Amino acid sequence: MLDVSEVRAGYGAINVLWDASLQFAPGRLTAIIGPNGAGKTTLLRAIMGLLPVTAGSIRLDGARIDGTATWRMPDLGVAMIPEGRMIFRDMTVEENLVMGAFPKAQRPHVKSRLEAAYAMFPRLAERRRQLAGSLSGGEAQMVAMARGLMPDPRILIVDEPSLGLAPIVVTELFAVLARLKAEGRTIVLVEQNTAQALAVADHVYLLQGGRVVLSQPAADVELDALHARYFAV
Ligand code: ATP
Repeated sequence: MLDVSEVRAGYGAINVLWDASLQFAPGRLTAIIGPNGAGKTTLLRAIMGLLPVTAGSIRLDGARIDGTATWRMPDLGVAMIPEGRMIFRDMTVEENLVMGAFPKAQRPHVKSRLEAAYAMFPRLAERRRQLAGSLSGGEAQMVAMARGLMPDPRILIVDEPSLGLAPIVVTELFAVLARLKAEGRTIVLVEQNTAQALAVADHVYLLQGGRVVLSQPAADVELDALHARYFAV
């Protein structure tokens, strides 16, 4: 269980998250939604140790992980697939994937993890020697996902994977998320596409102004009411 408890975090003097509490149950897909600037990415960065947690705590199976260096997270079984993919454009698909297994403890597993990645994303197998910069947006997102999976994380944190992708590619991407969940992984998904997120999520948190304003099983969420209340322009 990943447990975020009353966390405050932000950028220097600017605080963004205000006592945010969220629980991510094992083997479940939890979606975090909310308007632009609500603090969703900030929350993910705080979990990954990319930002200091200035109050509250983050626990993984009871042990505190806030304050843990980001580079240690893969060895703890936590991986993040960042917004905007952040793939290495001048490296091949396979070189990008190998970078995902950079921590020393992961290196002996590179071969078997590559095989698993290509089984999950056959299109990447065909393009393993292609420069990542020449991939389509959907393929680039798949590389980012596959790279994040290289340490075989139990907890996969995915930030806005569908951004800028064609509808058919988005459908494919959500099918991959469903498969990763079926493998037993815990998935934390930040997503602008609320309808699509609700369709795959078990639980939903809504952030607004850096606060958790709604926590509900996905099946109980009424999309129209939610949009009218929180996303109306
Ligand atoms: P979006 O859906 O637009 O990605 P979000 O919910 O992920 O939004 P965040 O990216 O977490 O929101 O941003 C929350 C707030 O923090 C915003 O007001 C943003 O301007 C601010 N912020 C984000 N990054 C920085 C930074 N590097 N320095 C200062 N403020 C930042």
